[in-house]
Amino acid sequence: MRRFASDTLVIASHNSGKIRETGMLLEPFGLTVKSAGEYGLTEPKETEDTFTGNARIKAHFTSRATGLPALSDDSGIEVDALGGAPGVHTADWAETGSGRDFPMAMEKVWRLLEELGAPEPRVARFRCTLCLAWPDGHDEIFEGKVEGQVVWPMRGDLGFGFDPVFLPDGECETFGEMDQTKKHGMSHRADAFAKLVAACFD
Ligand code: IMP
Repeated sequence: MRRFASDTLVIASHNSGKIRETGMLLEPFGLTVKSAGEYGLTEPKETEDTFTGNARIKAHFTSRATGLPALSDDSGIEVDALGGAPGVHTADWAETGSGRDFPMAMEKVWRLLEELGAPEPRVARFRCTLCLAWPDGHDEIFEGKVEGQVVWPMRGDLGFGFDPVFLPDGECETFGEMDQTKKHGMSHRADAFAKLVAACFD
């Protein structure tokens, strides 16, 4: 396992929600945190069909282009009654051709569940794979998840993406309603991040 020994880290993402959350998680380490957009980088195509494959594409692309270590996040929501969909394609379900429409994607998930007559609770989980890559091509991978269910209607306007319809186990607030510090303590991203910190930063 390679330790992180640099003073700058680039977040390999153009997703403002992910950049904000990852930046908050990195705060205690006193690093200079940059994002891919600050280097004018384009988004590489996510051509793999696994979270790990796509996380690797993003982190290596950004690390090679900047000459700095880069951290990517590939994540999504898996709904059991939909055979794990949208999963690795979560962001794609929100594509409209002129930007992403997450309310539309959440409605699609709920409509499919209704059409199937899926029993409640409609079990789901967020998964997150983090890839920390270095310019020499080395990388380290960390996986996290949080279990819960999809609920309807959407609740809360905090967070991003599918947060308004995800109710984590044991909670009465969706990720969209929950204080974001609390979300950051229990999310799939926090789970993967804790493993990254233990392996590369502590
Ligand atoms: P990708 O990793 O860029 O392919 O996109 C993952 C997608 O999953 C995001 O665009 C969000 O819709 C969704 N997602 C991932 N993490 C979260 C989260 O913490 N809250 C809500 N939605 C999320």
